[in-house]
Amino acid sequence: MEGIGALQHSNRLFKIRAVISWIKRKRIEEREPVAYTLTIHSVSKQPSTLKIIIMTPSQKLLAKLGIKDQDIIEDENASVKIEEQENPRRSFFKKSAMGGIALGGSLLFSPIEDIIAQSTQKVSRFSSPSDLKITDMRYCVTSVLGRTAIIRIDTNQGIYGLGEVRDGADERYALMLKSRILGENPCNVEMIFKKIRQFGGQSRQAGGVCAVEMALWDICGKAYNVPAWQLLGGRYRDKVRMYADTPEAGSPEEQAKLINYRIKDQGYTWLKMDVSIGELKGIPGALVNYKFWESSQGNLAQWGDQSNYMSYGNTLHPFTQIQITDKGFEKLGEIVENVRGMVGYDIPLSTDHYGHFDLNNGIRLGKALEKYRLAWLEDIISWELTDQWKTMSDAMETPCLTGEDIYLLKNFKPLIDKHAVDIVHPDLASSGGLLETKRIGDYAEENGVAMAMHQAGTPVSFMANVHCAAATQNFLALEHHSVDLPWWESMVKTTDGRKLITKGFANLPLTAPGLGIELNDEVIKQHLHATDKSYFAPTPEWDAKRSHDRIFS
Ligand SMILES: [Mg+2]
Repeated sequence: MEGIGALQHSNRLFKIRAVISWIKRKRIEEREPVAYTLTIHSVSKQPSTLKIIIMTPSQKLLAKLGIKDQDIIEDENASVKIEEQENPRRSFFKKSAMGGIALGGSLLFSPIEDIIAQSTQKVSRFSSPSDLKITDMRYCVTSVLGRTAIIRIDTNQGIYGLGEVRDGADERYALMLKSRILGENPCNVEMIFKKIRQFGGQSRQAGGVCAVEMALWDICGKAYNVPAWQLLGGRYRDKVRMYADTPEAGSPEEQAKLINYRIKDQGYTWLKMDVSIGELKGIPGALVNYKFWESSQGNLAQWGDQSNYMSYGNTLHPFTQIQITDKGFEKLGEIVENVRGMVGYDIPLSTDHYGHFDLNNGIRLGKALEKYRLAWLEDIISWELTDQWKTMSDAMETPCLTGEDIYLLKNFKPLIDKHAVDIVHPDLASSGGLLETKRIGDYAEENGVAMAMHQAGTPVSFMANVHCAAATQNFLALEHHSVDLPWWESMVKTTDGRKLITKGFANLPLTAPGLGIELNDEVIKQHLHATDKSYFAPTPEWDAKRSHDRIFS
């Protein structure tokens, strides 16, 4: 090929490295019209492919008489007719968009139109996000963790979102928000969150607001056909590390069984265990002031007796005047040593649920357990005692952690700003949902504080956590509180067919939209709470608002 020619096409003049003489030669050699493709390179444009059809004069005449295609006319100068041909690569993208073919790395050198075509190929045509409206909110109450409600928010376009009211919280925390969100576009997640934020409080009081927020991301992801993590800014990881909660065992043998199941059978790489002063029951001289607080069954009932406001379980840590003796610390140390002996040092070992005693005893306990290199000491005092957390953190080398009852970033800030904890531990069903929890993680990250995530619910809030964890850089591990519940995973079906959990890691849905799950109705219906067997029944009694919501004048 040789020569430089100029071809006129659609009022654009391209300087091309054409091979006019070669084309002319071919015209003589060929008796039938022939087509060639020519790729034109220019500085300002992506390569453009042209179709060149060469005709002899007689063919040109036949074309004029209508015997041949009239459009095929020779160019005046080059004796060729050029017509812009559809870029075959673009055509391929169009076809692949229709067929849903994943193209991966082939996009690297593609024109922007191709990238857009590829990236939007899965946008759901079923939903028109701008016209989405919330039309309903319904619920069911499962028996997970005693009582955990799942909500469903419906829309005018058939897509719905799933959310979860935190374990132990009343579903009415969510239902009272129904009248506030009906008619709203669910994709305006942040605006709706700000509208209903005032109806959340610490711990379970935030259950309704967070449930709605989760469901909105589920809808929004489905509307735009992307996973929730994508809407949060993208992902840092494809698998989310989990830590397996291990409840208090009645004996070392029982504890060994629980731990072996988690590590050897299930493949978890991070464990949490309870080290409670409740386990010192019956050991003379292990605790001071135990008798005063024991329940009618003779226990330190950390969760029991909730109806009695003055019970041990309802009394804040500094106000019990329970003290742990050296003998008590020795015994608690043995419990940890036993577990550490079983799991070794490759597995991070976190601890929780020590009981209610003050900062001084907390520091002494922390120091007694320091040699076991624990991953963290959790909620050793109540979260709002920021100065006491600072004192504790400064006194110990074991990381301190709290946060599962904190609502909103602004309530995490004092702990982070003062470096009063080493790790924050939001429960996404209390902290404000996916976006607020990511904001908590990001703020902690900026201040050199890590984030673990508390989770004790159904696979609905679990998946909300997984998306948030994937999108947050300083994330360490996500709690799984129902390792021993055989039907827990089967409460949902993943929409992309993936397993929920593999060897102690949650599998992130890489393409499935929203949270990436659907409810397994049959399984959930088998595990509804005894007091409420309804299953996403209509809730018209929650349609109307009865108060003026503005909180300023
Ligand atoms: Mg905890």
